[in-house]
Amino acid sequence: MNTPVPEYLADLLQNCKAAQGGKLADYIPELAAADPNKLAVALTTLDGLVYSAGDDDYEFTIQSISKAFVYAYVIEALGREAVLEKVGVEPSGEAFNEISLDQTSDQVKPKNPMINSGAITVHSMIPTTDNTDRAEIIRQFFSKLAGRELAFDMAIYQSEKDTAFRNLSIGYSLRNLNILESDPIEVVGSYVKQCSIKVSVKDLVNMIGVLVNGGVLPQTGERIFSHLTVRQVLTVMTTCGMYNAAGDWLAAVGIPAKSGVSGGIIGVLPGQVGLAVFAPKLDRYGNSVRGIDIMQQMSNDMGLHLLEGI
Ligand code: GLN
Repeated sequence: MNTPVPEYLADLLQNCKAAQGGKLADYIPELAAADPNKLAVALTTLDGLVYSAGDDDYEFTIQSISKAFVYAYVIEALGREAVLEKVGVEPSGEAFNEISLDQTSDQVKPKNPMINSGAITVHSMIPTTDNTDRAEIIRQFFSKLAGRELAFDMAIYQSEKDTAFRNLSIGYSLRNLNILESDPIEVVGSYVKQCSIKVSVKDLVNMIGVLVNGGVLPQTGERIFSHLTVRQVLTVMTTCGMYNAAGDWLAAVGIPAKSGVSGGIIGVLPGQVGLAVFAPKLDRYGNSVRGIDIMQQMSNDMGLHLLEGI
């Protein structure tokens, strides 16, 4: 690839406009009001240099992309074993909002932390002191990773909270099994708030710098996650990050990734690059149609597939 990176990214966006189809998520009423034509891409190198193109300052809600970072945060705080006791690492092969529990192990638990049942459980495990609410702890943590103060989108938060019937039913199932140990209404409300933190693609690549760089924040040199924590989160992103399309994704794109219903996708190749894309129209699995197209193109052009070397 000899084209300078900014031009390469701009060309990518131009070419991906051919990827038609998909539709806006509408189960969160406020998300259905998104502009379907927004399109952005960003890339970070190992040393934290950021390149971007398109609507790269446009802010959207992080949604399920938050699950990867909160999983890492809770593992770092409580240890991997404590988290594995409550949430497994098996791909579910089911939709992200399935009321899905692994019944095969000794203890019934959510199959993995990238689907809602696992992510709601992981959210409930965020340690709190002095009554700071968990979503606020996460907002501050994401702001630190992004290198700027991030905010909640209160309209999306309220809209999702008012219609969170499915997540509430997941919450009550988890409470019934004692996997959640506190009020499901409060936990689900706070989880939904975590999902409503606003980011741009530039913020996302700044945030994933820490995963690209083995747990150290490139901007400050501070160690945020241990090597083992990063390995754990990237493993689960590889097997479960794209929900029930994770196998197709791994074959076609081949990098650990996480998507969200507002249309964002992050991709992390440890020791090499971090990628983020945004385009709101989704396929039937809840993954961005144009986002997948752009990621696949980048993976091909730069030889990023994990198994490229064979
Ligand atoms: N807040 C959304 C939910 O819980 C996140 C889902 C997603 O991005 N796939 O349903």
